[in-house]
Amino acid sequence: MIECEVMICGFGPVGQLLALLLTDLGVKVIAVDEADDVYSLPRAAVIDDEVLRIFQSVGLDAAALANAQAQKSVSFVTNRGKKLEVLRPAQGDLGHPPLVSIHQPSMERTMVAAVAERGQADVRWGTRVETVDRAADHVDAYVRSTAGGKTTRIRSRYLVACDGGRSFVRRSLQIPFGGSTFAQRWLVLDGLLDKPLAKVPHPHFFGDVNRPTVSLPMSSGRHRWEWMLHPGEDAAEFEQPARIRELAAPYITDEEVEFERAVVYTFHVRRAESWRAGRVLLAGDSAHLTPPFAGQGFSSGARDAQNLAWKLEAVLRGAPQQLLESYEVERRPHVTSMQNLAVRWGGIVQTSNPTVGKIRDGVLGALNSTGVLALIREQVKPLPTYGQGFFATRPAKLPFNRSVGALFPQAERIDEMLGNRWSVVADSPAIARAWRERGVTSIVSPVDSWLRSNDCEWALLRPDKFVFATGAADDISATATNLEKLVGA
Ligand SMILES: Cc1cc2nc3c(=O)[nH]c(=O)nc-3n(C[C@H](O)[C@H](O)[C@H](O)COP(=O)(O)OP(=O)(O)OC[C@H]3O[C@@H](n4cnc5c(N)ncnc54)[C@H](O)[C@@H]3O)c2cc1C
Repeated sequence: MIECEVMICGFGPVGQLLALLLTDLGVKVIAVDEADDVYSLPRAAVIDDEVLRIFQSVGLDAAALANAQAQKSVSFVTNRGKKLEVLRPAQGDLGHPPLVSIHQPSMERTMVAAVAERGQADVRWGTRVETVDRAADHVDAYVRSTAGGKTTRIRSRYLVACDGGRSFVRRSLQIPFGGSTFAQRWLVLDGLLDKPLAKVPHPHFFGDVNRPTVSLPMSSGRHRWEWMLHPGEDAAEFEQPARIRELAAPYITDEEVEFERAVVYTFHVRRAESWRAGRVLLAGDSAHLTPPFAGQGFSSGARDAQNLAWKLEAVLRGAPQQLLESYEVERRPHVTSMQNLAVRWGGIVQTSNPTVGKIRDGVLGALNSTGVLALIREQVKPLPTYGQGFFATRPAKLPFNRSVGALFPQAERIDEMLGNRWSVVADSPAIARAWRERGVTSIVSPVDSWLRSNDCEWALLRPDKFVFATGAADDISATATNLEKLVGA
């Protein structure tokens, strides 16, 4: 039998990120994956600034960006060919570009290499989890090499299932995976290019009712196209080289591109009924599946990993197990809202009824000409703010008063000064000192607008940079005592 503190079943991108976050907190991790290596074909094509900030927390934002392209705009092209700018992600408050095209296998390799470099996690490729046995104070997972051989028992204090949409762990625990599957199917085509496409330089959604289409750059030198199939159309026929060339012809010539793969996908909107069964937790696609229209599948899984990592470490070091209940309480509503965003946008793009398409284009045109589109296109994806969860007081009333429960903004890479544990941003050296005397990392905020607009002298941040409490000098002592009681921090 082998033992560890946290076992990660599934070493895809969510498992990889979780392994990095946990090992950086000193947690003993074993991660297994039935595959022999990173999945070589891209699925996720974009990530957001929250994910880059999480990468920053494990020292990988520069590496992730080195192989990425920031997107400044997203366009929608109406059925009649009129181009509207529907998204201009504002350079947000998180210190990173809000929308970035990536190449998922490269991003995964960066994480896998970082895990190996740290040398803190025991990673076993080609190893399948075959049985999970839960006990009151541990979890036993029985694993076997995919090449055959004998079974090994891995005993952990907690097991996190990061084993994807078909999650073996979720199924073996008989946790229902409710939701729906889109009736529409999409052909996803990835190509290697000599140079980025000049015609469609940033993500474009084509509302052609005869064939809704998406065109988006991935990391440098790569491009993706997606075409919606109509009911009755044969998926296999669409994956044929001749058909692919015909579809791609308006965008690119054969000489300019080498097609990497063409696969017809069906998209799902699903959430596991429960994301925790005792000491087993679900994260990423094993907990929820989101259609790709808003680029939020992996991004949501990355947020799960960050939300879970510090809570698991705290519980392993003596904090009450109830802390883990806040994981689903916080993450489920946020995942649901990202799924709703993807479904709404998917509905707009997938319109194939000409009358509905005409109404859609009319509404979008009116929003554009009256200036409303300009107002909303920078605010399509709100900053994560948890309405309930593990906070000192009830999160502030949403959405206008974002204080407790909100993700703290990042100016001047303050996260690097704050570190990966509890920390305080203060409005004066005296307040920062008072917190430091209580053993909490504390800095004077380089910009005081957040503290001023929230009428406080300090903000106490959780390790994931969500605001746990705010207050004035007089509140420091009581808050620090409370924190000690709650998490032993
Ligand atoms: C076409 C498409 C486009 C997408 N676009 C985007 C996008 O733009 N942005 C975005 O954020 N997301 C996007 N996504 C979603 C994103 O790719 C997924 O959300 C993400 O890959 C999920 O990561 P994961 O680690 O949870 O699961 P996975 O990547 O599925 O990894 C699960 C791992 O578990 C392993 N495993 C399974 N069973 C076992 C077992 N019994 N024992 C051991 N190992 C096991 C598997 O081998 C696999 O490596 C897209 C998805 C698709 C299909």
